[in-house]
Amino acid sequence: MEEIYTTPNLVDFEIKLRELGVRGSSLERELAHEVAHFNKAIALGYNPILRVISNHLGGEFFDYMSSVLVSNLTNPNHIRLIALAPKNPSMNDFLVLNEISNIKNTNL
Ligand SMILES: [Zn+2]
Repeated sequence: MEEIYTTPNLVDFEIKLRELGVRGSSLERELAHEVAHFNKAIALGYNPILRVISNHLGGEFFDYMSSVLVSNLTNPNHIRLIALAPKNPSMNDFLVLNEISNIKNTNL
């Protein structure tokens, strides 16, 4: 079963990850990555949303994926700056750069 959690708040985002059992270097890495996207989006005047999609099998948590959603992000330069904000952009972050035209909602 898939659960989708969204919040505009970094503290709630961290709490959600901890609730899912994400700890230690995994948590640090995840937070550093998404916070970099999030803070860059804020600095450029957007209202980013943090999202965590988790999968449960028989009630037991087994996997998650987090991302930052930025609505109304169409400025190619802003997309580039936000996508490449983390020290180690993900494969998805680089893919977003290839789809720069006609994006209404960017998922990083
Ligand atoms: Zn990313």
